[in-house]
Order: sequence, then C-alpha cells, then structure tokens
Amino acid sequence: MYDVVVVGARVAGSSLALLLARQGHKVLVVDRATFPSDTISSHFLQQTALTRLRDWGVLEAAVGDCTPFRNLTMHYTGIVLDGFADPVDGFAETYAPRRTVFDAALVDAARESGAEVREGVTVEDVIFDEGRAVGVRIREGDGPVHDVRARVVVGADGANSLVAEKVGAEKYDVHPAGCFVVYSYFSGLDWSAHHRTGFGREQMGAWPTNHGLHMVATMASRDQMRAYRSDIEGNVDGTIARCAPELIEDLRDSGVREERWRQMAYPDNFYRRSHGAGWALVGDAGYHKDPFTGQGMTDAIKYAELLAEHLGAALAGEREVDGALAEYARERDERSHHTFEFTVAISELTLPPNLEPALRATAMSPEYTRKFFGMVAGAVSGEDFFAPDNLAWLYETTGMPSTVAA
Ligand SMILES: Cc1cc2nc3c(=O)[nH]c(=O)nc-3n(C[C@H](O)[C@H](O)[C@H](O)COP(=O)(O)OP(=O)(O)OC[C@H]3O[C@@H](n4cnc5c(N)ncnc54)[C@H](O)[C@@H]3O)c2cc1C
Repeated sequence: MYDVVVVGARVAGSSLALLLARQGHKVLVVDRATFPSDTISSHFLQQTALTRLRDWGVLEAAVGDCTPFRNLTMHYTGIVLDGFADPVDGFAETYAPRRTVFDAALVDAARESGAEVREGVTVEDVIFDEGRAVGVRIREGDGPVHDVRARVVVGADGANSLVAEKVGAEKYDVHPAGCFVVYSYFSGLDWSAHHRTGFGREQMGAWPTNHGLHMVATMASRDQMRAYRSDIEGNVDGTIARCAPELIEDLRDSGVREERWRQMAYPDNFYRRSHGAGWALVGDAGYHKDPFTGQGMTDAIKYAELLAEHLGAALAGEREVDGALAEYARERDERSHHTFEFTVAISELTLPPNLEPALRATAMSPEYTRKFFGMVAGAVSGEDFFAPDNLAWLYETTGMPSTVAA
C-alpha cells in the first residue's frame, strides 16, 4: 500500500513524487513512456522555475548542456519589446532545455529521492471503494493487469488525462485553442530567443537549446493548418520571412535542420476540477493553456510544489486529506487565473483591444519593458503589471493619449 500513486512521470509527476518522497511518504510514480524520451513541447523555462530546480538540487542535470540566454525579442503585430527580466533570485539568464534532458533528470531525481518509479507502465483504470479512489489498475509492458493500492491517486498524465476521465473531473473555463505549431531543431545558428507574432495570425519562435541546436517553430491559426501542412518547409520559410525578416537570410544561409518536423494542433485551454475523494490532478491534467506564454512546465513545477505542501501535511496526519486537496485546487485556481486569462487573450495571435494600448505603451517605457519581462520570468504578477494605477502611470509617462489607452 502506497501513500500516493502518481500517474505520469514528466515535469508535474516527477516534481510531485520527488517532493513527497523527500517528506518521507511512500510514493509510486508510473509512466507508459520510458526515459529519456521526447514529447511534443517547446522548452522555455521561467526563472521562477529555475529557482525551484536549484533549491531541489536538480538544476544542473535538468538543463544539461543547454545554452543560456539573457535576451528575448518579442514582436506582437508591430509592437517591439526587447530585453530581459531583472535577475530573479540570482538568475540573470534562463534556459530552454530539451524534454529528453529535462524530464529524464526529474525522473532520476524522483527515484534518487526515494520514490519508486516504474517506466513502461500504463494505467488503465482508477479503482474505487465506496466512491473513493483507492488505487489504479496497471499493465506493465505487454504483461497482465494488476491493481496497485494507495491512499491518494494523482493524475499527472497530461491534457488528455485518463485519471481525469475515470474520476469524472469536469472541465470549466474552457476556451477553444486557436493555433497549431510546427517545429524542428537547427544547427548553425547563433541567436538568442525570439518570439514574433506577425499580422497574418502567424508567429515564429526560436530558442537556443541543448547540443548546440536551436529550436525553430512557427505557429498559425487553425484555419491555415491544412494548407500549411501541404508544404511545411515552404510555409515555415514564409512565416519566418514575414514575422522576422532580419532572421530569415541567416536561417536560409546558415541553418541546417537536424531533425524531422514535429507538428501539433493545440489542445483547448481549460481548467479541470482537480480534487475529489482520494484523488487530485496536477500539471496539464488539471489546468491546460496555450503554449504561447511558455508557462506550462513552470506552472507544473509550481503547482506540484503547492500540492506537495498540502498533501504532504495531510499524509503526515496534520490535516484531513480531502480538505487539503480541495485547498490545493482552490489556491492553484486563484494563483493561476491571471496567467490563464492573459494567455487565452493573446494566443489568438491578434491583440484584443484592452491589451493593445498597454503593450504599445510598454514598448515606449524601458522601466515597464523590464516589468513586462519580469512577468515573462514569473517574478511580476499579472495583477501588478495590469493594475489600473500602474497602467495610468505608464500612459502618463509615455504620453499615450487617454482616448487610446481607455
Ligand atoms: C508545442 C508545445 C510547446 C510548448 N512550449 C512550452 C514552453 O516553451 N514552456 C513551457 O513551460 N511549457 C510549454 N508547453 C507546455 C508543456 O509541454 C506542458 O505544460 C507540460 O509538458 C505539462 O507537463 P505534465 O507533466 O503535466 O504533462 P505531460 O508532459 O503531458 O506528461 C504526461 C505524462 O503522463 C503519461 N501518461 C499519460 N497517460 C498515461 C497512462 N494512462 N498511464 C501511464 N502514463 C500515462 C505520458 O506518457 C506522459 O509522460 C508546450 C506545449 C506544447 C504542446
């Protein structure tokens, strides 16, 4: 009998397993994948994630030979923001590590911390006793199914969570996804990080990552997906030429694509009820948003930590389990709401009228630009950035006409 069985061993699951195991709880984490392995995802980490990884002693392994970057160029339909956040708890840089490196380091750390990690194990069902989740039914490789019992079942099994389906966790605040992504990895580039949204509901992004490679991605609205796929090479070139004309020649002349193209239509933005009798959801399973703001992994880390605090105290007998899980879910929603709303608003690749003047004025103010990158780094809250008094100051100091800013 385990204290906790965690389904899914990537960033959310391994972070939670690591933290609970270090508190002395008996934890099993299973994943149908084996590690190291890739998953469809980009790699941008907020500095607030780096501080946690450092404190857990896993930062060096989690980033591996990843090239750090200290500058981010963001264009949004003609608005240009160039800079970086002020150092966050000692981090003046950030990283975009490959998931093959990053997830594997967290899996190793969970194991070294005392969690039992089983790879190549698929969860097929959640087991209930009088309405309470009491374990999972698993299949190891091609072997027979058997049951594993635990006081608490946690789904860290991604946006299409099986645990969520089996416990009947309903979605709320659902916003249909607007985009799809195409990306690959290139050698021969010496770029920092770029994130550029053009006028045709399309975008390019590029980051240095591991093994001397850059990830180069393009995103566009879903209605363009069928046509885009018919000529990926040509359409990626066209998007980058329109969104980043000063980069395209370098990509054409010096960039060598080293891997196949990956592509994906984004899942919807949503919250799921993330607590119930004997169960909880963490990471994308409980709260998924468009990758535009690059906060999925950082949020997975932050809210795994939050769940570990509440659940750990309950498992230690300091409070009742289901109440602790409910409190975790309530706090996660409260803390994440602004990020979620902001992400949904800008990921359509056209700026809504209420955000347009704020970002336009930000581009005119070095101080507010730093604040913007502080928000990107996770060190400045959305509430602070968009606080009416702060925006009023911004509009006044930049001379933004009140009619435009209203
Ligand atoms: C194109 C793209 C770009 C992105 N870019 C960024 C970015 O730059 N920065 C960022 O922070 N985030 C980014 N994200 C988001 C990020 O990838 C996710 O938020 C993050 O992976 C969520 O981690 P997770 O551990 O919750 O789930 P996942 O990474 O989805 O892991 C879930 C795990 O559960 C396992 N699993 C599922 N079902 C079962 C089952 N039945 N039995 C056993 N195991 C199971 C899977 O094998 C998987 O390993 C991006 C996402 C996409 C799609």
